[in-house]
Amino acid sequence: MYKRVALIGLGLIASSMFWAMKRASLADEITGYARSSETRDVAREIGLCDRVCDSASEAVEGADLIVLCVPIGAMDAVTREISRFLKPGAVVTDVGSVKRAVINAVEPHLPDGVHFIPGHPLAGTEQSGPRSGFAELFDNRWCLLTPNGAEATEIKKLRTFWEALGSKVDEMDADHHDLVLAVTSHTPHLIAYTMVGVADDLSRVTDTEVVNFSAAGFRDFTRIAASDPTMWRDVFLNNKDATLEILGRFTEELFALQRAIRQGDGDHLHDHFSRTRAIRRGIIEAGQDTDVPNFGRNPVRK
Ligand code: NAP
Repeated sequence: MYKRVALIGLGLIASSMFWAMKRASLADEITGYARSSETRDVAREIGLCDRVCDSASEAVEGADLIVLCVPIGAMDAVTREISRFLKPGAVVTDVGSVKRAVINAVEPHLPDGVHFIPGHPLAGTEQSGPRSGFAELFDNRWCLLTPNGAEATEIKKLRTFWEALGSKVDEMDADHHDLVLAVTSHTPHLIAYTMVGVADDLSRVTDTEVVNFSAAGFRDFTRIAASDPTMWRDVFLNNKDATLEILGRFTEELFALQRAIRQGDGDHLHDHFSRTRAIRRGIIEAGQDTDVPNFGRNPVRK
């Protein structure tokens, strides 16, 4: 497959990719780079990457596959930094949660002869940093590629790579990806952030009550709302149109439910909840409801 892989950014996704690559014995050498010396020190201490480099250019030199694992807002600067050092024929991919903005940020800086295939593993936790990764993160999860005109043989190779990490792989257009993710991930995160903020602001309910009587719905919201602030700031700034569109529809539905509650319209509420229950059943049948199997505590080490 790829002999040398470079991971740029060493957080949750990169470290999980590293452990998953080790589990599958992919690549002869995996190099890594993170901008802070603290993260690089942790990576060296826990054996994350075969070689941790002090510059991004050093990490990518001679690499066959380069994976950009930094927040979306950092993709442009990172690509500028590495572009001169990419070897002809190398494949650059990324794991960003938004695709059109990443294409716009990365593609203009890549030299001729380097292949760019954007990607997004639909797998994550609310944890971040080099210690949070684990080999099973991608197992049975989708990884979406938005190839943007890349060569078929290179796409096939990257597909095989993600499958070896445990993923199921699909391809779609970048704009469609951003709309789908606005529905399935971005707007739900915004709602969780909002609800946890509401509980925090509500002076009639004490903090202790929120913590002690945290029931399933709210507890799930708090887990989601604990996700990395930088990553999610960048998601909303870079998937503005799709998120605003879905948020508009959400608000309309919310007002309809609000009216049904005020008017005592039980039929409306029951119909709505029956429809949503069927969606949940569909997710279970598709095997996409499993929680994180091994919450970053026990990476597969070689
Ligand atoms: P993370 O654990 O917070 O790690 C981010 C890494 O990027 C760190 O190594 C950090 O370096 C580096 N970084 C941060 N800001 C940077 C900057 N301005 N310039 C250069 N490097 C920078 O993040 P993650 O969860 O792995 O997310 C990485 C990417 O994966 C994001 O694009 C995100 O959209 C995508 N993604 C995340 C999830 C998820 O659930 N977390 C799921 C799918 C895709 P330092 O440690 O030195 O600060």
